Amino acid sequence: MADSTDPSLPVDPLRSIASAGPDPSSASASSGIDSPTASARSKPDRPTEPPIAPTTELQFLKGVGPKRAELFARLGLRNARDLLFNFPRAYETLEPTTRPEDLVEKQPATIAGNVTLIETKISRSGMHILGIVIDCGSMKVRSTWFNQSFLRSKLAEGFRVLVSGKPRLEGVRWAFVNPKLIVLREDEPQPEGQILPVYRLTEGLAQHHVRRASQRALEACVDGIDEVMPQRLLDQWRIVDIRRALRGIHQPADADELAAARRRLVFQELVVLQLALAMRRRKLLAECRAPALPVDSVIDARIVRLFPFDLTEDQRRAIEEIAADMGRAVPMNRLLQGDVGVGKTIVAFYAMLLAVAHKHQAVLMAPTEILATQHLKGLRRLLSLAKIDVGVLTGSTSDAERKRTLAGIADGSIPLIVGTHALIQQPIPFDRLGLVIVDEQHKFGVKQRAMLRQAGIDPHYLVMTATPIPRTMTMTAFGDLDVSTLRHGPPNRQPLHTYLGNAEQRDKWWTFFRKKLDEGRQGYVITPLVDDADDGNLTSVKTAFENLTNDVLADYRVDLLHGRQSAVEKGDAMFRFATGETQVLVSTSVVEVGVDVPNATVMTIESAERFGLSQLHQLRGRVARGNHPGYVCAFAEIGNEQAQQRLDAFVGTTDGFELAEIDFRLRGPGDLLGTRQSGLPPLRIADLIRDAEVVAEAREGAIRLLEHDKDLTSPDCERLRRQVLVRYGKVLELGDVG
Ligand code: ADP
Ligand code: MG
Repeated sequence: MADSTDPSLPVDPLRSIASAGPDPSSASASSGIDSPTASARSKPDRPTEPPIAPTTELQFLKGVGPKRAELFARLGLRNARDLLFNFPRAYETLEPTTRPEDLVEKQPATIAGNVTLIETKISRSGMHILGIVIDCGSMKVRSTWFNQSFLRSKLAEGFRVLVSGKPRLEGVRWAFVNPKLIVLREDEPQPEGQILPVYRLTEGLAQHHVRRASQRALEACVDGIDEVMPQRLLDQWRIVDIRRALRGIHQPADADELAAARRRLVFQELVVLQLALAMRRRKLLAECRAPALPVDSVIDARIVRLFPFDLTEDQRRAIEEIAADMGRAVPMNRLLQGDVGVGKTIVAFYAMLLAVAHKHQAVLMAPTEILATQHLKGLRRLLSLAKIDVGVLTGSTSDAERKRTLAGIADGSIPLIVGTHALIQQPIPFDRLGLVIVDEQHKFGVKQRAMLRQAGIDPHYLVMTATPIPRTMTMTAFGDLDVSTLRHGPPNRQPLHTYLGNAEQRDKWWTFFRKKLDEGRQGYVITPLVDDADDGNLTSVKTAFENLTNDVLADYRVDLLHGRQSAVEKGDAMFRFATGETQVLVSTSVVEVGVDVPNATVMTIESAERFGLSQLHQLRGRVARGNHPGYVCAFAEIGNEQAQQRLDAFVGTTDGFELAEIDFRLRGPGDLLGTRQSGLPPLRIADLIRDAEVVAEAREGAIRLLEHDKDLTSPDCERLRRQVLVRYGKVLELGDVG
């Protein structure tokens, strides 16, 4: 610890206060991944305590200074403690190095040396070429990168680097082309096999700056970080203490140490989330009241009699779960998930009719007018014999009609209301609202909920989604939602065939497409854009429409649908297609969600590489709904490996759950739709896919802990509890848990 007695170090401004004794605010300072405060307490029995406390500002850390501290601040790093909880985003392992004289042509090797020359040029074909010469002591080695101009900023003459790849002899000199590059500091030692942390950077801050500062912070004040977990929990959960975890995450001696450190930090992050969610759930149970709308055999028979088909086993089970929730005087908070076409709508209708049976109102909100209209028609058809009025509120509802509908809602004469999500942008004067259903959306925000609360009574909530959410997600980002899943669709479903077409197969495909139309079926043609793109590579929906109607589909009734049309135009196009007046709908992905035209069985997808995996799957769900097999052909310009993997997965399986997992994996945790939509702060280290097992363990751990200590008030959990409140108290409104 070179710094500990460095006389040049400025005096830590906090130290004099800190060493006066444990101050009350520091009792809560802790190994909190989020705790904004930190322990500034030095241990009086250790006179050689370094003058760096967790709260020491970074400018006072040796080798940082005020200028660089500003750069750190841009990353949100202000004090030593922030550095300790700034976890590496990756690691680099220093491979054993080879002496240049031992290199063998094309045999993988790593060499170390100092950069003596850096050259960049642009080739005649426009390629960026970066070349460096590395002095390895006994000889010089050349290394060249093509089109990796970003590497330039990492390098400077004199820097020590490691270069890994397959060497080639160029004349008398060894050369590497596009090797892996690790930049070390000039004087950084490089023991073989060492694992180096890789941190997030900002312009002007080099990797070794952050590494260096993090090491210093670690050496100087890791012992000043308090443990939030009581020993019994560390033992029970088999996790290492916080100091070992912090050392292991920033400076792992080996892979095992790193794994143990990571496990501790991931577990902590997830267990804190799970504790927060469980505490919130308890609070809701205690505080929120909803109308109890139980089902009985008479009501059930009355509802089911209206249905044109028998319910599947899955639908039955989901209905039982929903009805059980609605029977309690606590608001239901449930997610109904199931692949496209699996039959969620009828389950939703059941729940709505259950509310009506108890003289309560039910609202169904859809993401688009097309879907709202479809639901409206579905409900009216179902209720054609029953005397139950269905009101509709969308953007294109006329003022007069809106007024009439609102009056009916207010006096209770309209028990069922269908609308778009925009429906609740303004307060609606419900008479007795019992149930709110949100279709094709994952989350229903706290604010929206507040608008629907009436005199302290909440309605029940049901959210439906066709994007299957992996189990780990429903347990975390969706941890406060109960889940019902429809896994299997109605019986006698026809198979769905998906093909990836290339240019030569186009004629054959269109012949097939026309044959299906001639047999009486209908079809979709999907393109990603409304207007032609500047680069001219992609076909827009308008161009596709023109081309098709002048060529392969000249003899058929073809219509156009896209998001820039007015609601009326869209509605008309949908109506003509649903009634069979038009045979082919050329459309953008606006038909993606929920549209149900069972007679449509063929689909062409153009520029399929432009769509995400879930979106592709949603799209093809449009042609897998009737009594005829469905056929989808995706034409794609595959530009990269990810697109290839996506499309392979798309043709490889029709299981939406499997696809969702693949999609999450391909897109990476940063892009998980759920965490962002949930409104919870992002996770810092846990990865809901990679750490799936820990998610389950943490959930179990949290539930078990609260079983014996329902508010987490046992004295040895004080710090853990504080951490739950600091991180989630506000967003989850846990404020007054105690
Ligand atoms: P999604 O889950 O995508 O919303 P829908 O509820 O629109 O699916 O149902 C898809 C199709 O399956 C609809 O045409 C619907 O009428 C039909 N369907 C739903 N449940 C059954 C069932 N139990 N038996 C037969 N057909 C059903
Ligand atoms: Mg639907």
